[in-house]
Amino acid sequence: MSDNISEQVANMSINRTPAEEDYPDLTKHNNVMAKKLTKDIYVKLKGKATKSGFDIDKAIQTGVDNPGHPFIMTVGCVAGDEETYEVFKDLMDLVIEDRHGGYKPTDKHKTDLNPANLKGGDNLDPNYVLSSRVRTGRSVRGYCLPPHCSRGERRAVEKLAIETLDTLTGDLKGKYYALANMTDAEQEQLINDHFLFDKPVSPLLTCAGMARDWPDARGIWHNDSKTFLVWVNEEDHLRVISMQQGGNLREVFERFCTGLTSIENLFKEKEKPFMWNEHLGYILTCPSNLGTGLRAGVHVKLPNLSKDEKKFDGILENLRLQKRGTGGVDTAAEGGVFDISNADRLGFSEVELVQMVVDGVTLMVDMEKKLENGQSIDDMIPSKK
Ligand code: ADP
Ligand code: MG
Repeated sequence: MSDNISEQVANMSINRTPAEEDYPDLTKHNNVMAKKLTKDIYVKLKGKATKSGFDIDKAIQTGVDNPGHPFIMTVGCVAGDEETYEVFKDLMDLVIEDRHGGYKPTDKHKTDLNPANLKGGDNLDPNYVLSSRVRTGRSVRGYCLPPHCSRGERRAVEKLAIETLDTLTGDLKGKYYALANMTDAEQEQLINDHFLFDKPVSPLLTCAGMARDWPDARGIWHNDSKTFLVWVNEEDHLRVISMQQGGNLREVFERFCTGLTSIENLFKEKEKPFMWNEHLGYILTCPSNLGTGLRAGVHVKLPNLSKDEKKFDGILENLRLQKRGTGGVDTAAEGGVFDISNADRLGFSEVELVQMVVDGVTLMVDMEKKLENGQSIDDMIPSKK
């Protein structure tokens, strides 16, 4: 048998139907993968696999099974390991370019985790801004990602995370809570308080293979005040989160940068660096999270501004922001309260993305106040950033 994995995969198909006949029916689909995956690209990629055996069908299954999503434009494909973005670049580069505002295969990503470079952000009006949060993901080099990892790999990542996080000190000192050891009531409470990821109910997650063996080796680590949290083995190996009530997004970002930098250094000391390269920045499971992986957001009350949905969506787009419901990505807004966050991840630094949220939310709260007083906001509509 050949040592070349791609050849092995091609050979495995010998007694099966030709690749053309495996091309999925994407005619009713509305996700980025479906827009980009032509039959030619599919046939070219069908015979390839990464060294860990991740192939094109595994990468696109979630997008084939979920034609569209009621609230967001999904990407429709995932990575199973670090190599996925290289081996399947004929599709991935197109998806990345579409999802990340024209980001080209030759572009280089920038990182800035110095909160001193952020302007303002410490006083978003708490009458409107109920809570502030910044999160990112990180993947540990050498282990497959959640859509493709084995149980053993998943447990190894959990063990590394616990050993590392348990050495944090000061305000960051905390404890790990394995999902398997939690009662249903404890888990429900953490979800309702917005600290913990949802149960694996989303078909986006299950069809991507990320919910296999649930809840084995999943859990949450958090500091005593629940302002610094790390999710283990949900959609990414690690999701690092800083959050608190009110509108001091600056303080949230400061804690995020300090904590994240400490974690990265601790992993490096163990010779377990995070997946990263100059072009894609930090490598994560979903192509939409490449680069910074950063989503800075606030829960903000905008009942008047959101009344005209088309106008509201236009404003968000021009400010390079996105909206979600307050229960997370799969929920709709209730009572005019939205989760407003940066739309981009790649091609902008962490500081630049948080700045867009600070500036954009400040403007939208000002607009909301005008509308509340029956005044016009016509002269406040932002142009495209
Ligand atoms: P992500 O995957 O980007 O972390 P999700 O949309 O899946 O975000 O939401 C995850 C959880 O985080 C949900 O419980 C959501 O309510 C909570 N959350 C997100 N943003 C905020 C915020 N600004 N304040 C409080 N909770 C938040
Ligand atoms: Mg999520």
